[in-house]
Amino acid sequence: MFNKILIANRGEIACRVAATAKRLGIGSVAVYSDADAKAKHVAVCDEAVHVGGSAAGESYLRIERIIDAALKTGAQAIHPGYGFLSENEDFARACDKAGLVFIGPPVEAISAMGSKAAAKALMQSASVPLVPGYHGDDQDPALLQKEADRIGYPVLLKASAGGGGKGMRVVEKSADFAAALVSCKREAASSFGNDRVLIEKYLLRPRHVEVQVFADKHGGAVYLFDRDCSVQRRHQKVLEEAPAPGLTGEVRRAMGEAAVAAARAVNYVGAGTVEFIMTHDGQFYFMEMNTRLQVEHPVTEMVTRLDLVEWQLKVAAGEPLPLTQQELKVEGHAIEARIYAENPSRGFLPSTGTLKHLRLPQAVEFTLEDNVRIDSGVREGDTITPFYDPMIAKLIVHGRDRADALARMARALRECEVVGPHTNVEFLQRIVASEPFSQGDLDTGLIERHHDTLFAPSTVPQKQALALACAALLTREGGEAHGNSPWDALSHWRMAGGYAQDLNWRAIDTDETLQAVFTRDSTQGNAEGKRLELLGENLRFDWSHADEPHTFSVLLDETLIKGRVFIDGDVFHVFYQGASLAFEWQNLMAHAADAEHEGRLTAPMPGKIIAVLVETGASVEKGAPLLVMEAMKMEHTIVAPTTGTVGEILFSVGDQVADGAQLLTMEASRA
Ligand code: ADP
Repeated sequence: MFNKILIANRGEIACRVAATAKRLGIGSVAVYSDADAKAKHVAVCDEAVHVGGSAAGESYLRIERIIDAALKTGAQAIHPGYGFLSENEDFARACDKAGLVFIGPPVEAISAMGSKAAAKALMQSASVPLVPGYHGDDQDPALLQKEADRIGYPVLLKASAGGGGKGMRVVEKSADFAAALVSCKREAASSFGNDRVLIEKYLLRPRHVEVQVFADKHGGAVYLFDRDCSVQRRHQKVLEEAPAPGLTGEVRRAMGEAAVAAARAVNYVGAGTVEFIMTHDGQFYFMEMNTRLQVEHPVTEMVTRLDLVEWQLKVAAGEPLPLTQQELKVEGHAIEARIYAENPSRGFLPSTGTLKHLRLPQAVEFTLEDNVRIDSGVREGDTITPFYDPMIAKLIVHGRDRADALARMARALRECEVVGPHTNVEFLQRIVASEPFSQGDLDTGLIERHHDTLFAPSTVPQKQALALACAALLTREGGEAHGNSPWDALSHWRMAGGYAQDLNWRAIDTDETLQAVFTRDSTQGNAEGKRLELLGENLRFDWSHADEPHTFSVLLDETLIKGRVFIDGDVFHVFYQGASLAFEWQNLMAHAADAEHEGRLTAPMPGKIIAVLVETGASVEKGAPLLVMEAMKMEHTIVAPTTGTVGEILFSVGDQVADGAQLLTMEASRA
């Protein structure tokens, strides 16, 4: 086995590989770009080497620098992760040349599978089933048109060198073919530097089912069963699961064996994935082979209870496969959700920014008791930059069966809290809760077909969320943790026998102005006298702040609700029942006066009263100046927080007042 490996990647996969290296006592070397100098993967590895600028082309794709880093640090092997150089023949070759072990398949296997067309030709000779189509060398447009007509519409045009869902065109009818071919070739040439295309029958409502294979250097090859990755947006996977639901034992075995045949046909070594497209009657056809570890490998790990990175390292070090086909078993069901910094309602546009608050469900790896796993490459405080894939984390759950796993996934997604970039968490929750997904009725068109429900406006109960924000504000401004705050610091006014406070908000998403008024009737007991006028309702209201940070319980009439609030300046991010809503506190007093603290009925800091502008009993308009004090060589005007009547004036000109001292009282005139 190796003593030290270099991980030529970043983010969650670099951290994932490092975790196994650490467990096996193997040293790990990270590489990083300018933007990643403080990244998590750098922190979790034993050593790290800077390889260049932030753009991937200047760092993670620089073959010579990465080889150099490995040689310099004495690493014996390089794990490429996925993406970047993982399927780059030149890189695998450069490793060989430098005497480093490339933790992946032989160069020839990468190149054989690198072209979809050549791979299909190979698979045909290995008797692996193919989608009816054309993958020949002759690219004459007239011939391609004839082939498409022969196959029958709709057909799918694919860039032979394509990947990541790019370079594909669905053609509905013969008359559209020529134009689609031109545009597909143009995209293929610009994205992949190669305009060769192939044509396939476009299957309707197909499933994407893939098989994990593993082969060693001694002729051993096995399959580690299947994964369903049908839930895709724009041909990119969103949710993955293992095993693929609803396959008969017979189909499962046939697919596994076809996948092993595919691997054997290219003398494969290491971890690979053979992707099939499947019709609802269980017919499956080879699509492509990915010659690396997949993003979704954790679901296979969860159901086989095996560490696939450990297998990769063993195989690369020349050891035989740890288990035979007969020894491999599937246990329970696993689902993975990819949590992205993106905005689903704006066409899944990547979203960047600092993760001001990041709370993911508790993660435990490889246990049967607590079956929630998080693979993430970022921590709270890290920034999602525009340079790389905007994935925040992969959330993986395991259950006794699919229903159990689904319930765990739903719960785990409700526990995710992200403040900063937009995320797809709510969108994932909706898919998981949707009828077709929960029924296991999967196909690649699921998201599009259910667009209206999946993208419907949020239905988070605004009243409850706002009540939580009010509780957090009262706690913060009162400096009290248990609901009996003196709330002196908030603008408040006295009414007959009690106090009232205006709590004005702006809903960040909708820009709506929302009003709440908190009142406390001192003639009643502590538990009875508090009420909140909220969005037109007058409710009994009380709250407490749990010991756990950000956690509040709020009583609204007879109902106790629980939620979490993360406060970022005056913006209150409320997490309630799995949804998040943000409200900005409109500190009207602060706006009405020049300085932040003016407008309160309390002294914002220690100082001296220099003018009293009103008398007891005076009627004042909201915002009217009441009193001026001098503090830190500056004048602060205390203004009326609401329209009403001035009550008691507690100090006179020349008096020194302490920080936070109440200066006067007011009785609001009730509209
Ligand atoms: P890429 O290499 O870009 O990921 P694939 O060939 O793996 O491209 O296909 C990506 C996705 O496109 C599949 O998961 C599936 O959803 C869809 N797809 C591919 N081939 C077909 C086909 N013949 N009919 C219908 N859908 C297809």
